[in-house]
Amino acid sequence: MKRLIVGNWKMNPLRLEEAEKMIKDIEELLNDSSEVVVCPPFLFISELKKITRRIKIGAQDCSFKNELSLTGEISPMMLKNLGVDYVIIGHSERRNYIKETSFIINQKINAAQEAGLSVILCVGEKDQEDAKRAVEKQLLIELNGIEREVVVAYEPVWAIGSGRSLDPDMAEDIKEFIHKRFNIDRILYGGSVKIENAERYLEKASFSGLLIGGASLNPDEFAKIASI
Ligand code: PEP
Repeated sequence: MKRLIVGNWKMNPLRLEEAEKMIKDIEELLNDSSEVVVCPPFLFISELKKITRRIKIGAQDCSFKNELSLTGEISPMMLKNLGVDYVIIGHSERRNYIKETSFIINQKINAAQEAGLSVILCVGEKDQEDAKRAVEKQLLIELNGIEREVVVAYEPVWAIGSGRSLDPDMAEDIKEFIHKRFNIDRILYGGSVKIENAERYLEKASFSGLLIGGASLNPDEFAKIASI
């Protein structure tokens, strides 16, 4: 199976034209060594779907229901109908700012899988927390009753957007724990991944891929990481 390299654009860029240019630039620079997914803001998904060929499109979140009278939400089924392949669920920024709970995350995974989307579930410890205990607590609730495969992105919360990165041996230890305890095969690493440290997580710690925030906004850097 190819490595999975996922770019999380968060609330960037501000305009569709910029998003189109970024995705075209990435596509031009890629080789085919990895499966590459870009998760742009919802607003740009349908236009970007029209111009991408090799890059898959993911969403950064979805609703916890496919059918409900629920103002402002986006159902997983709508995303599937736009041609979206993957959805990120449980990103630490949503847990932190929007107070998304493990119970809601569990329902989101259910709804997304019901719609046929592949789920990238983000888990990770906060500063000073025991990583294994934190990740175990999240996964026990969030994977409860989930029978289909999910991709887990292990992201130490303190490493996201901070420029601090986890020692690859320690990252590998958590990865092995998740694999053995929850029988998860595809495990990504995320947290201030850049061209300078990407290889450490892919080769030394043998993660199945990476979830990349900041560096995914630079087409050249992102394509280089995806081409390792
Ligand atoms: C992320 O948003 O999941 C992330 C890992 O961001 P960054 O690469 O900027 O730390």
